[in-house]
Amino acid sequence: MHDFHFVGRRLFCEGVALESLAENFGTPLYVYSQHTLADHFSKLDAAMAPVDHLICFAVKANSNLSVLRVLANAGSGFDIVSAGELSRVLAAGGDPRRCVFAGVGKTEPEIEFALRQRVYCFNVESEPELQRLNRVAARLKKIAPVAVRVNPNVAAGTHAKITTGTYENKFGIAFEQVAGIYARAARLKNLRLRGVQMHIGSQITETAPFEAAVKKVLPLVRQLSAAYGLEFFSIGGGLGIIYDPMLASGRPAWWRTPAAKKILTPASYAARILPLVRPLGLKILMEPGRFIAGNAGALVARVEYVKRTGRKNFVIVDAAMNDLIRPAFYDAYHEIVPLVKKGGAAVSSDVVGPICESGDYFCKNRPLPKVGEGDHLALLSAGAYGFVMAGNYNSRPLAAEILVSGKKFAVARARQPVKEIWAGEKVVAWLK
Ligand SMILES: *Cc1c(COP(=O)(O)O)cnc(C)c1O
Repeated sequence: MHDFHFVGRRLFCEGVALESLAENFGTPLYVYSQHTLADHFSKLDAAMAPVDHLICFAVKANSNLSVLRVLANAGSGFDIVSAGELSRVLAAGGDPRRCVFAGVGKTEPEIEFALRQRVYCFNVESEPELQRLNRVAARLKKIAPVAVRVNPNVAAGTHAKITTGTYENKFGIAFEQVAGIYARAARLKNLRLRGVQMHIGSQITETAPFEAAVKKVLPLVRQLSAAYGLEFFSIGGGLGIIYDPMLASGRPAWWRTPAAKKILTPASYAARILPLVRPLGLKILMEPGRFIAGNAGALVARVEYVKRTGRKNFVIVDAAMNDLIRPAFYDAYHEIVPLVKKGGAAVSSDVVGPICESGDYFCKNRPLPKVGEGDHLALLSAGAYGFVMAGNYNSRPLAAEILVSGKKFAVARARQPVKEIWAGEKVVAWLK
């Protein structure tokens, strides 16, 4: 599943002990496994092999240049949501003609940039956006390739903040209105209708919601494809991963929750989805982010203090919500393990950061091995929606990122120097 594992008492990423990385590079520290990234990509790629397909890694999940390069080398395209992300793909050596541009708020400069770079498709989320695309393309004397994002109004069974495929969300165009939009778009001279797109949400751990959404949209795709000669159908991303080892195999069967037996694999996903989409004869696009990067990264933190109150055992670490916001933002679970196992009984602990917010915690009341000042902890499965959401709250510099491959390791992003945090700021003239 991934390449973070204990060898004896020590936690390794592939062939490198995390404790040595923490000592070399300091903490907080993101560590990524190149093998996990490439392996997850190729497993999905292989599962989709029976159909003409393109996997477009969702850059928003992890946009480090080295991570993007690993995936570009593996043959990945990219799902981008801003000019910034497109620039990153270019900087990493990715192919803009294998990029799809998503998002509800594309600005004119962004559209212009993406048109000049010849992205594969714009995934359009509203009628005004279609008009704007047509206008910008006309001005540049170009034809913009487009797909409309269909909102199938299917519940994904995931957290409210990562559900996107229902009418409560800002995403896509309501299923019932899509045919009308294609008819109007077909009359816009600087657009080329290239495909249909959908994406119902994130961290979906069963195939049923994907299946339901595909089944609902299929007749529409068939109809639009016949009418406009489409090239692809994008079934989005959203494939979930294991965050909580209670759900993972390797535990006694009685310990697994019912969800565990259904946890999604590329093979189980493809087995249900491919028979549905194959008869279309279209190229199938996918936009996975978390599935590829999630389990490929860990955030390493140092224990600064252990504070015992009457009720609680607080483990105060040097990583915080500015480094990894998922627990605060989505109530997310990250498995927390020591880099060096010491044995002894577990203590019910809250692992918290130093930021002045009650939301700045990584877990509450969780049985964890006893740790003390100077020990290190790893928050596992932090490779997606981790560093990309980091910020400078409390004037905390952005963490460093390390890429590991076998016994090799290298800095994929240097720790941010403190002064860089306010590099663009000034004490304005009249205050001097
Ligand atoms: C975020 C997003 C994805 C990727 O979602 P994951 O859950 O990381 O796979 C794919 N497509 C679109 C349109 C998105 O917004």
